[in-house]
Amino acid sequence: MRLIAALAFLAAAQAEEQRFHYERPLMGTLFAVTCYGTDEAAAKAAAGEAFQAGMEVNAVASDYLPDSELMKLRPSKPVKVSPLFAELLDASFTKARETEGAFDPTLGPLTKLWRETRKTKQLPPSGVLAKARAACGWQDAVWNREAGTLLLKKPGMQLDLGAIAKGFTADRMFAIMKQRGFPRSCIAAGGDLRLGDPPPGKQAWRVGLQTFDPEQPEEVVELENCAVSTSGDLHQFVEIGGKRYSHIIDPRTGLGMTTKVAVSVIAPSGTIADALDTAGCVVGADQAEALGLKFGATRVVVRK
Ligand code: ADP
Ligand code: MG
Repeated sequence: MRLIAALAFLAAAQAEEQRFHYERPLMGTLFAVTCYGTDEAAAKAAAGEAFQAGMEVNAVASDYLPDSELMKLRPSKPVKVSPLFAELLDASFTKARETEGAFDPTLGPLTKLWRETRKTKQLPPSGVLAKARAACGWQDAVWNREAGTLLLKKPGMQLDLGAIAKGFTADRMFAIMKQRGFPRSCIAAGGDLRLGDPPPGKQAWRVGLQTFDPEQPEEVVELENCAVSTSGDLHQFVEIGGKRYSHIIDPRTGLGMTTKVAVSVIAPSGTIADALDTAGCVVGADQAEALGLKFGATRVVVRK
């Protein structure tokens, strides 16, 4: 009898859980926190703290903010970085090494050119491209984990962490939500998701994987306590001379990738999923899955 009463009480408590949703623009996209709980004020405060943590990553790692720690790095001397930046750099250079530079955090000079190309619809002159390429290369950036220092060896080198920062940020934001008593949370960093425990009464979060064709039905996956991240020329590309150049740079050419491919990665963390979706696009449809599974993904979905 007592057990039944207790169960009934539990069910009532669960039924009272509400969905709370908060959004904020960050890192050139929209971030959203969705969580379930009974205390709206606590949910709002936790989400506010999570967004604050997201803004901290942006302040450190943005290549759009001239004052960010990333933009203030100067080549030729080892620079001691902040603990937050160290964590992001450590993940970045680990993934660069594992993917042998398919994910390359040092492509700043080339992504700058790509943004120029998108504006002007002109590919860079070969001399300009060669110069930018010469200033890139993850092997010429020495990350010293023990000392917490980064040395950019070549003049003109500049980091771009755009392919990993959103996933990393989603992880940090989720950790805060969980710590604040909201393990049933989902952090959306644009289309990249970090998911916690499922919504009340559900077995999982239902997530539609992005496809090229809006008419085409999305593949729906059921997930919990993991991350899912998609990359490819789905949204960001520039068309020149009938060719479509994606915002993912092929380190072998220095230009945007021209093969039509989208890679979704499911992984235990957003950091891993985000780095590997980009690397998967670079190595191409045939190798993306093997690469992803080797370096931390639990599932890789490739579309071409
Ligand atoms: P999205 O931003 O659409 O989620 P990605 O996670 O793939 O897609 O990130 C793409 C961004 O990463 C680019 O805009 C650029 O700043 C940077 N980038 C482009 N190519 C590479 C690459 N090969 N390795 C690492 N970063 C890259
Ligand atoms: Mg990525």
